[in-house]
Amino acid sequence: MRPYILLTPGPLTTTDSVKQTMMADWCTWDEDYNLGIVEEVRHGLVELATSHTDEYTAILMQGSGTYCVEAVIGSAVKPDADKLLILSNGAYGDRMGHIAEYHGLRYDLMAFDETEQVSVEDVDDYLAHNPEITHVAIVHCETTTGILNPLKDVAHVVKMYGKRLIVDAMSSFGGVPLDVWDLGADFLISSANKCIQGVPGFGFIIARRSELERCQGVSRSLSLDIYDQWKTMEQGHGKWRFTSPTHVVRAFKQAMEELKEEGGVEARHQRYCENHRVLVEGMRSLGFETLLPDAIQSPIITSFLYPHAGFDFKDFYAQLKAQGFVIYPGKISQADTFRIGNIGDVHPDDFRRLIEAVRGCRY
Ligand SMILES: *Cc1c(COP(=O)(O)O)cnc(C)c1O
Repeated sequence: MRPYILLTPGPLTTTDSVKQTMMADWCTWDEDYNLGIVEEVRHGLVELATSHTDEYTAILMQGSGTYCVEAVIGSAVKPDADKLLILSNGAYGDRMGHIAEYHGLRYDLMAFDETEQVSVEDVDDYLAHNPEITHVAIVHCETTTGILNPLKDVAHVVKMYGKRLIVDAMSSFGGVPLDVWDLGADFLISSANKCIQGVPGFGFIIARRSELERCQGVSRSLSLDIYDQWKTMEQGHGKWRFTSPTHVVRAFKQAMEELKEEGGVEARHQRYCENHRVLVEGMRSLGFETLLPDAIQSPIITSFLYPHAGFDFKDFYAQLKAQGFVIYPGKISQADTFRIGNIGDVHPDDFRRLIEAVRGCRY
């Protein structure tokens, strides 16, 4: 079932057992699906996100991760009364700015260098001087480069000023331990095809119940209204408002069980760290350099600089693909880079094989 493995930021390489569960059809009105699958997934997600499960709930939303980011921003930030501060050091932070722009929201975007973490001091200073801010949004792992932002410290400052916190934890949730209650996060967003290792087709939001109540009537989009989606799921015990990606949700449930079997988020984090260590050590031994210093690098995805000016990424990519490895182009303007992901059903031995394959490439 695997012509090659994906070393990408998602969709990822999934297990055959996750893919196999999609070989059955489900009725969205039947309790086998709603109670047996959707509700279990929702409860399981809240348990993964926090030990304070009473205060939070999970909303599943059709579409890719961006749909959920847009749904949260469009449902939580009131167009006239609220003002959003977006902390950006990459394409996904910038995308939140585009969303705020589309929705005609009042917002400020604090831009940081793509190779530097969001600065806690700058956020503190900004909030001290801009009391009209009501919400702050940050990307946990900025997949653009693979940088890990200092979420705990930023969250602490945001809460010190009494602001609401929106976290795009798309590429880290399930792969990097965190607790939304400890952080004080009000909304956390991720999707099916990242660290939980499901297939693409929906995203999800972990939301503080009291903050969700405040979202009633805010959204100017029907399909992206998280309040409405939540109410329907609560009242219908797992019913989605519109056609849900049934096979994808079933596969996700299997992926969550496999996460548990692996030993939970801690164990998965350890595997990703080991994948990353083998990758980076091997690539460095071949003369490649990482874009980021190790101290701010996530175990999720790593950017490598082109080894020389005439490097032909497409050719390098094709040589690796022919040997069973799909890697990813870079996404930043300041330097020529390519990326290699560590997440998915991929293991340290896969990275040892990858390094041998790179060793044999012409570049
Ligand atoms: C993958 C990702 C998204 C969502 O991307 P989609 O293509 O819409 O699934 C958003 N933010 C981050 C940090 C991501 O890694």
